[in-house]
Amino acid sequence: MNENSLKKALSKLKLGGLRYFDSIGSTNDEALAWAATEGGAADLSLVVADEQTQGRGRLNRKWFTPKGSALAFSLILRSSETLRPNLSRTVGLAALSIAESCSKNGLTPSIKWPNDILINGKKLAGILVETVWSGDELDLLVIGVGINVFKSSVPPVDLLQFPATSLEDELGTPPNREEVLSSILEALIHWRARMGTDEFIKAWENQLAFRGQQVQTFAGTDVPVVGELLGLEPDGSLRLLDKHRKSIVVRFGDVSLRPDA
Ligand code: ADP
Repeated sequence: MNENSLKKALSKLKLGGLRYFDSIGSTNDEALAWAATEGGAADLSLVVADEQTQGRGRLNRKWFTPKGSALAFSLILRSSETLRPNLSRTVGLAALSIAESCSKNGLTPSIKWPNDILINGKKLAGILVETVWSGDELDLLVIGVGINVFKSSVPPVDLLQFPATSLEDELGTPPNREEVLSSILEALIHWRARMGTDEFIKAWENQLAFRGQQVQTFAGTDVPVVGELLGLEPDGSLRLLDKHRKSIVVRFGDVSLRPDA
């Protein structure tokens, strides 16, 4: 992967700009810095790196992007009429787009709400959305994505709390990283224009992992909220049904789902 191969693969997409790095701390940090410069970065500007040395997950957890093996990118979305009222759907926009791109390649992905993509119960990709505000007005957001593409991108088991996989492991053959990126961005541009629709929520909900199963979520406390995973609220919150048949809405916090043992 290099700047030219990326430019070629992404030429059909109307990106606002492209910055490629052989190695970088974090693509999200670079995107945030780019957006903050005089004149800023245009809508749909993209930062791609072959290697991240300080890749971040939520709550400052680490995301591993070893050299020559993964996809790490951050896409800048400028605030717009469509985005503003649907901000809470942004992580779904990224998750749905990655999932659709996997499905196109014949895989069966699922979304571990809110920000992980699983294949065969193992983590393939993670998403980190960060927002920039001017007072209480949204200025822009950065969608950061890390995807394990080749086998060599999967971190050693002792570094993980959750099993991981790669596209190569699942497909049985190594895909082209530029093509994977192009297909995700194409889906993302398609769904961004439809973020406010019921169709969007339905498509996102249809890809959720553990639907109809007993799950537990941790929303910033040690005590899990337990229930059957029903689906999504219009704002992208998760809807569970507890043992008293009462509906519970899980909105935010550090929520991770595990099948209830
Ligand atoms: P969570 O899994 O709780 O949603 P994040 O999505 O923020 O957490 O991702 C960070 C976590 O993902 C790390 O703590 C690490 O266990 C795991 N991780 C880091 N890099 C990778 C990778 N390349 N593939 C799979 N899992 C990873």
